[in-house]
Amino acid sequence: MVDRIIEEEELVVLVDDDGGEHEFYLIDTIEVGEGRYAVLLPAEEDDEEESEVIILKIGEDEEGNEVFYEIEDDEEWEQVADAWEEVDKDEENIELAEEEWQKIVPVTVTEEMANTNCPYCHTLLKPGGKAISCPSCKTLHHEECWRVSRGCAHVECDK
Ligand SMILES: [Zn+2]
Ligand SMILES: [Zn+2]
Repeated sequence: MVDRIIEEEELVVLVDDDGGEHEFYLIDTIEVGEGRYAVLLPAEEDDEEESEVIILKIGEDEEGNEVFYEIEDDEEWEQVADAWEEVDKDEENIELAEEEWQKIVPVTVTEEMANTNCPYCHTLLKPGGKAISCPSCKTLHHEECWRVSRGCAHVECDK
């Protein structure tokens, strides 16, 4: 079970053993078993290599402040890495799904089609204009309206 807790990117500063400060973006927090883990992306751009995320365990110090620990247990590390991979994959899928509506090619409105109301703005389609037919319910939208509503605006559409 993986829960997302933090949605916004947060800048965190980590201090290494030599006292050097490194900035990271906290891109996600995941829960695995009993532990909470922070997924961090280096904020300092490295042109040579692609930045890779690091995952640290979230704990508390004696004063109750949130601190990050390195994951030392191999098994624990593997579980967390797997969990992150899954979250990452889910997000990619969501992005793909969002693009689906953008791929639909508009059609030119014929006289016949012009008799229907666009479900988004509730005005008639104009002959010769561009319209997009919902792949699921086939309702025609003005191309503009389809883009603004980011997909089908038909109330009964199950997409
Ligand atoms: Zn419209
Ligand atoms: Zn639809």
